[in-house]
Amino acid sequence: MKVLRTLVQVLFLGGVVALLLRGLAGHTPNTCEYYCPFGGLVALYPLARYKAYACALTELNVALLVSVLVLTVVSKKSFCGWVCPLGTVQEWLGRLGGKLFRRRFRLPKGVDRVLMNLRYVVLIAVPVLTFTVWKFDLGFRAYDPFYILFTWGGHETAAFSFYIVIGVLAAALLIPFFWCRYLCPMGAAMDPLSRAGALRIRRNRDTCTDCGECDKACPHAIPVSRVDEVTARNCTNCLDCIEECPVEGALELSWFGK
Ligand code: SF4
Ligand code: SF4
Repeated sequence: MKVLRTLVQVLFLGGVVALLLRGLAGHTPNTCEYYCPFGGLVALYPLARYKAYACALTELNVALLVSVLVLTVVSKKSFCGWVCPLGTVQEWLGRLGGKLFRRRFRLPKGVDRVLMNLRYVVLIAVPVLTFTVWKFDLGFRAYDPFYILFTWGGHETAAFSFYIVIGVLAAALLIPFFWCRYLCPMGAAMDPLSRAGALRIRRNRDTCTDCGECDKACPHAIPVSRVDEVTARNCTNCLDCIEECPVEGALELSWFGK
C-alpha cells in the first residue's frame, strides 16, 4: 500500500509540476487554480446569488469540491494524504526534517490546539474577503502557498508571496504538515465529514502490545494506541501506523471500525 500511495502522490505532484513547467514556458496560462477544490467552495456564493462564477473559477472547481467531500465521507482525509501535491511536498519535507534534526518538533498541546482553529478563520475569511475587499477577484492567490508554489509568479503574486511559500515549506521541515495543520481552509472544510469517514484504522485490543510505535509513526500526532478506532479529523489514511506496527493484524483498515 505504501508503494501504491507513493505512486499516486508522484502522479498528482507530477501533474501540477508539468502544468507549472508548461506555464513557465508560455505554452499554457499558469492554471493550477482551475483544479482547486477550495475554489469550488469560494464559487458557491456568487453561483447561488448571481448564477455566475467569480474570476477564473468554473464548474470544474465545484465538481472537484464535491468529489473531495464525497471522498472524505468514504475515506477521511485521503485527499490530503494521497492526492494533494502540497500535502505530498510537506510530507517529504517533514521526512527530510526528521532525518536532519533526528526528531519531529511539536508545539505545546495548548498552543497547538488554539492554532489548529486558525484554519476555520482562513476558511471564513477567504470567501468574505473575496466578495468584499477583493471585489470578486481571487485575491487569496497572493497568500496561497499552493497557488504561489505551483504557478511561481501567477496572477496577483507579489514579492511577499514568495516569502510566504518559503516560510510554509521551511516550517514543514520542522513541524509536520505545518500548512495543513494550522492554516489550510480546505482541510477545515473537510473536518466534520472526516470525523465520520467510513474507512478508518481499527486497533485490535487483543493483539496490540501497547508498544506505542503507531503513535510515533503518525505524522499527525494521533494517539492511535489509545483508541479502538481512529476517528480523528486529521487522519489522512496514510497507513504509516499500520506499516510501523510490529504486530500483524493489530491495526487494520476497516469500515466504521468493524
Ligand atoms: S499514521 Fe495512521 S492514524 Fe496517523 S494519519 Fe496515518 S493512517 Fe491516520
Ligand atoms: S504499534 Fe501496533 S502493537 Fe504497538 S501500540 Fe500500536 S497497534 Fe499496538
